[in-house]
Amino acid sequence: MIDFRSDTVTRPTAKMREAMASAEVGDDVYGDDPTINSLQAYAAERMGFEAALFTATGTQANLLAIMCHCARGDEYLCGQSAHNYRYESGGAAVLGSVQPQPIENEPDGSIDLDKAKAAIKADDFHFAITRLLSLENTIGGRVLSLDYQQQARAFCNDHGLLLHLDGARVFNAAVKSNCDVTEITRLYDSVSVCLSKGLGAPVGSLLLGSEAFIERATRLRKMVGGGMRQAGILAAAGRIALEQGPLRLFEDHENAEHLSAGLARIPELEIDPDSTQTNIVYARCRAGKASQLKDFLAEQGILITAGNPIRFVTHRDVSRQDVDTLLSAIRQFYPS
Ligand SMILES: *Cc1c(COP(=O)(O)O)cnc(C)c1O
Repeated sequence: MIDFRSDTVTRPTAKMREAMASAEVGDDVYGDDPTINSLQAYAAERMGFEAALFTATGTQANLLAIMCHCARGDEYLCGQSAHNYRYESGGAAVLGSVQPQPIENEPDGSIDLDKAKAAIKADDFHFAITRLLSLENTIGGRVLSLDYQQQARAFCNDHGLLLHLDGARVFNAAVKSNCDVTEITRLYDSVSVCLSKGLGAPVGSLLLGSEAFIERATRLRKMVGGGMRQAGILAAAGRIALEQGPLRLFEDHENAEHLSAGLARIPELEIDPDSTQTNIVYARCRAGKASQLKDFLAEQGILITAGNPIRFVTHRDVSRQDVDTLLSAIRQFYPS
């Protein structure tokens, strides 16, 4: 199978499996797992924070961040299409009693700061207390500019808000922005990052922030059932993902660009090649038929997500040749 559904589908490499098999472990709830401790210390250093916490998922890392920054009855500002608003089962509201205040994302994925300003509640007991702005980078595969993120930092400073980054794919953003990841992460009070996407780990995410913030997050992680025991088995793969994963993301971006250019030559598909910035490509079927295309490709061992638009994601387990196989299969579906 060639799987373009997501970059979460990558399988652990032989090196990761070896590292997992031989990882030194202990009970992480007691703080005794040396492989977890060393991953967290390495991640904090690598991403420019005082401390880091290994979490089961990116969803869990975002939930802990929102719950740490906001008390019950507070609210956070986020994009209408933010993962932590739309795709995390309403966790911030349900489990944190934190009210989301979504704001329509601009076409580039940013949140207009004037709209954010208008959404901040006045100090009045009728209103929830606005505490936090949450951004996402990359968002739908698009990269927020450094300039915009600096403006968002200044905006939060001016209005007494905290600033969280859902950085599930922040290393893709850094590669595209041609900067070290810390040039992005230093602008935020907290950052979540997925090890289990393009970086290639089988399981796990990280939450980064100050020492005090991570101490509170550790308590909340226990509360939501995320205190794991010999989790060093997972951290061993996560360490390799974090050290080596970023170095090859440019290949995924090149493959996405190649795919994007190929799709643009198929008249039945509508694609804005400029929208392909990292490892995610979106295309609309002009005549519908997305689900027929999906079924046709599945018969040939190629998996895609058939929404409208269709989403294709490149990652370590799809090669340039796999992209060409996909393109020729799509051309076969649309013989013109
Ligand atoms: C995947 C993703 C998450 C959540 O990660 P899980 O590990 O699947 O829970 C959060 N934010 C963004 C932007 C994501 O793409």
